[in-house]
Amino acid sequence: MSSGRHVVVVGAGVVGLCAADELLTRGFRVTVLERETKPGDGCSYGNGGLIVPSHFEPLAQPGMIGMGLKMLPDRRSPFGLHGLGSVEVLSWVAQFARAANAKHVERCASIIRDLNLISRSVYESTYSELVAEAGYEHRGEFMICRTAAKLEGEKHLAEKANLIGLKTRVLSKSDLKTEEPDCEIDAEGAVYFEDDAKLTPRVFMDGLRKRVIARGATLLDGAEVQQFSIEGKILRSVKLSDLEVEADEFVLAAGAWSASLARKLGLKVPILAGKGYGFTVARPPQTPRLPALLIEGRLAVTPMTDGLRFVGTMELGRPTSLEVNENRVEGMRRSIAEYYPAFRGFDLKDAKVWCGLRPCPPDGMPYIGRTSRLDNLVFATGHGMMGMSLGPVSGRLVGEILANETPSVPLELLSPDRYA
Ligand SMILES: Cc1cc2nc3c(=O)[nH]c(=O)nc-3n(C[C@H](O)[C@H](O)[C@H](O)COP(=O)(O)OP(=O)(O)OC[C@H]3O[C@@H](n4cnc5c(N)ncnc54)[C@H](O)[C@@H]3O)c2cc1C
Repeated sequence: MSSGRHVVVVGAGVVGLCAADELLTRGFRVTVLERETKPGDGCSYGNGGLIVPSHFEPLAQPGMIGMGLKMLPDRRSPFGLHGLGSVEVLSWVAQFARAANAKHVERCASIIRDLNLISRSVYESTYSELVAEAGYEHRGEFMICRTAAKLEGEKHLAEKANLIGLKTRVLSKSDLKTEEPDCEIDAEGAVYFEDDAKLTPRVFMDGLRKRVIARGATLLDGAEVQQFSIEGKILRSVKLSDLEVEADEFVLAAGAWSASLARKLGLKVPILAGKGYGFTVARPPQTPRLPALLIEGRLAVTPMTDGLRFVGTMELGRPTSLEVNENRVEGMRRSIAEYYPAFRGFDLKDAKVWCGLRPCPPDGMPYIGRTSRLDNLVFATGHGMMGMSLGPVSGRLVGEILANETPSVPLELLSPDRYA
């Protein structure tokens, strides 16, 4: 047990706050340092709110490089890549290319499935009250395809999902109509993934912040960690502009900015920012019953407590800018109208565009665990497109690691030392 040891968590996104919560459960004294003076607009607040056992394959997989290259020249496409002149970006791309093979996908699938399923059960148990407020529903998700070719691809994915115990159903055009009677969808068909769930992230995050404060954590906003003080293999303190905070243990959960903080510690933990956009339509012309991924458009659609939320696009680069690329947002609007005829002629430009930076590791696997380089530092970052889904299990693992309990999943594939 902790006997009141002090842990500093860097970053108050979903991963940092879930880690804080699990550490409080285990009797640690917890301080969370957050750079933003008014948290509430970061990646963990504006995302698609999908809990995704269906995403059991890492982003680094065969076919991804080809698909990215095809999309690159189109400025309205959902994919972009910036900063190819920088060594950081170039070496990330090379690491992605090395990881994008069938063996890697096979090695990672069951662990990603387990992470997602454990996380979903933590949402439904530990956070049952918070998720009830956040409109949580565990009723599955549709992968909707406009073309027969993409539907074939999704069927193949469904077969693989079934082999590792996930439940799926292939839907024809008319099945989809039966499943979504109040929302017209122009598509060839869909695959239904029964294990997925959804919530409204902003409502959950607000509740989670209040919960960790009520349980005794100290949350400091406007507290940007700028440097570290190290003695041998011990991290002694983190330095802010006007304050130095000492602790017995440290957790690095700084999302897309974790790689640059790791560099200040002399550690190589590659992460690029995967910029994405989202907007919520408060009064949509039609609302689907269940969340969906629009496969060709690479968009997610989630009915939330405050309207219908659309999220999408992945512009990879260093985490330097939150500027909105209007071309890509226009690409999203056009895709929506292709799938949902009721949105043709509906003005989506009224909906305010939000931008967030996903913390993307090159092999698509999060970094969770201790580094062999420092005795008292745990990483919990690099969750890419799945951080909302994996926040609770990541927090659970951080708690288990620091309390010397057996981790809920094997940590080898998640090691922060794998690129050292
Ligand atoms: C468009 C879009 C849609 C998405 N949809 C989904 C989805 O449907 N389901 C899903 O599972 N995931 C989704 N994601 C991904 C998910 O949002 C992220 O993976 C997740 O929010 C990452 O959480 P985090 O806590 O690691 O990082 P963050 O939420 O980014 O939190 C990190 C925090 O660290 C702080 N920080 C950084 N540097 C410092 C420093 N030096 N000192 C102190 N604090 C610092 C930052 O200010 C930030 O608040 C989506 C992302 C995007 C962009």
